[in-house]
Amino acid sequence: MHDATKVIRAGRPEPSQGSPFLPGPVFAGPYHLAGDPASSAYSYGRYHNPTWTFFERALGELEGGEAVVFASGMAATSAIMGCLLHSGDVAVLPADGYYAARTLAQGYFAQIGVTIRTAPTAGDAQGDHLGGAKLLWLESPSNPGLDVCDIARLVQKAHAQGVLVVVDNTTATVLGQRPLALGADFSLASDTKALTGHGDLVLGHVAVRDPDWAKVLRDWRTRFGAIPGPMEVWLAHRSLSTLDVRLERMAANALIVARFLSGRPEVCRVRYPGLPEDPVHAVAVRQMTRFGPVVGFELASAQAAEKFLGACRLIEQATSFGGLHTTAERRARWGGDAISEGFIRMSAGCEHPEDLVDDLARGLSAV
Ligand code: PLP
Repeated sequence: MHDATKVIRAGRPEPSQGSPFLPGPVFAGPYHLAGDPASSAYSYGRYHNPTWTFFERALGELEGGEAVVFASGMAATSAIMGCLLHSGDVAVLPADGYYAARTLAQGYFAQIGVTIRTAPTAGDAQGDHLGGAKLLWLESPSNPGLDVCDIARLVQKAHAQGVLVVVDNTTATVLGQRPLALGADFSLASDTKALTGHGDLVLGHVAVRDPDWAKVLRDWRTRFGAIPGPMEVWLAHRSLSTLDVRLERMAANALIVARFLSGRPEVCRVRYPGLPEDPVHAVAVRQMTRFGPVVGFELASAQAAEKFLGACRLIEQATSFGGLHTTAERRARWGGDAISEGFIRMSAGCEHPEDLVDDLARGLSAV
């Protein structure tokens, strides 16, 4: 079955007369529970929830494994790191990946005795630092630099040395790239982004092939209480149905935007894995089915970038990415990433491409 069809019904219960297609969110702390707790699938809201069950089933079908939903992408990140990394362990992270994951590792996990090595995503450089490591953490395409590594190649190298592999798949989503099929042990995503795509919730998940890891992650979620609200999960499941159509439009728009920007003299550099001339395009084509909504480009200075953003009317300034609405930000305003002051991370939404190009032209004319 094609993804476009699969995603529409994923995780939904079998049709039954008079019942809704997707049952509404279940709001419950305790559930009725007499006698042996094992006699009921649901006992207490921090342990499980039927709304999570449907959504996790959907994600599991799409990822090709078992999924565990978390309160945020960072809750999912800290669950994997927390379950795997103990004093004396070594983890290899991307030097150019999502900065909060890197600072969590270099802050908290380094403090408890974990050695954190970092290397760039580009050129599969992380593969040269695996000696004695327990965990290889990949992010491809990376945020914000949009570099790509060869996931299957790095997995092979890591597994040959007994190293477990996590792929942060946030920018691509499961319909753009399947980390578990490429051999990764853990596929992680911030579902705050394109997977849900309406800018109205914060959520994350991890998918694994080995059910024992799913149990370990669920136990972590229960103990640490990193649980998502049922309303968020229900909204996420509802939004998931339109992921294929949203991604199709967003990726098409992103390519149009990247091509337009590439031809403009005000723009020093454009990065988009879907651009044939991008240095990572060949690897991206091998492992991705869609190149996602995020485009990176550089203007000459912070001032030029601020002028551009200030002059756009349709493209809204916001952090995050993957929404229906096109957004952009000068990424260096946050600090923490090795990017130029004029670097803009833009996320193409679902608007008409001509309107987006008009707005880009308006913004650039102010530079
Ligand atoms: N991973 C990546 C690549 C991200 O971009 C983000 C958030 O921006 C996260 C993880 C964390 O996700 P959340 O904000 O849902 O906690």
